[in-house]
Amino acid sequence: QTPRTPLIAGNWKMHLDHLQAIALVQKLAWSLKDARHDYRQTEVAVFPPFTDLRSVQTLLAADKLSLELGAQDVSPHESGAYTGDVSAAMLAKLEVTYTLVGHSERRQGHGESDDVVGRKALAAHRAGMVPMICVGETAEDLEEHGAAAIPLAQLGAAIAELPADADFVVAYEPVWAIGSGQAATPEQAEQVARALREQLRDLRDDARAAATRILYGGSVSSQNVAGFLRQPNVDGALVGGASLQADEFSRIVQFE
Ligand code: PEP
Repeated sequence: QTPRTPLIAGNWKMHLDHLQAIALVQKLAWSLKDARHDYRQTEVAVFPPFTDLRSVQTLLAADKLSLELGAQDVSPHESGAYTGDVSAAMLAKLEVTYTLVGHSERRQGHGESDDVVGRKALAAHRAGMVPMICVGETAEDLEEHGAAAIPLAQLGAAIAELPADADFVVAYEPVWAIGSGQAATPEQAEQVARALREQLRDLRDDARAAATRILYGGSVSSQNVAGFLRQPNVDGALVGGASLQADEFSRIVQFE
């Protein structure tokens, strides 16, 4: 099996102006430099609001910090009369490596359909970024369909238009676990992650399924992260609230 580098991603959502963003990244860098654990075996990415990306990118480049930059969303359009949108090319130019697509807060709050999520993933790929495709069931879905059915359908739709060799990351985030303090159990996360990987085997091939990182997200903290990362099919975490505190996020990154 292809070894997969663990990935810990911090989604700041709509928090922190650019000065607060610089302060957080500086604190995080200090904390990680002091780390006993060699976190360099783990990839770490932060996903600030759009208005912070330039400041954070300049800081990362100047200090040669081993952090990757991610965006929280991307336009499905290449360019043109789309007021308020930010294109994949604009993000790539800022050395943004990843972009979330289909976060449940966008699916729910902005009515994003599976089709739009797929087009965003394609736009990100075409600009040279790696889409981080967020999938997950609501509490009602869970009751009605079980845990895996909705995430599997969302993943299938999101990668339908991507070329077979396109790289992407999957973040399994049960909607009921996001921001609720009620994380899934490691076993629940593993069960869905395994099903998602099996689906990748069917929709792509063994090599792509083995190489693709599948993260768990939803109320991850330094207290529970290791349990998720011990699961054979869970390759990292997408962290919301806990990524806003440098010390806590640093402990999560040093999850062992
Ligand atoms: C998220 O927003 O992707 C998330 C997982 O949030 P939290 O960690 O706060 O539940």
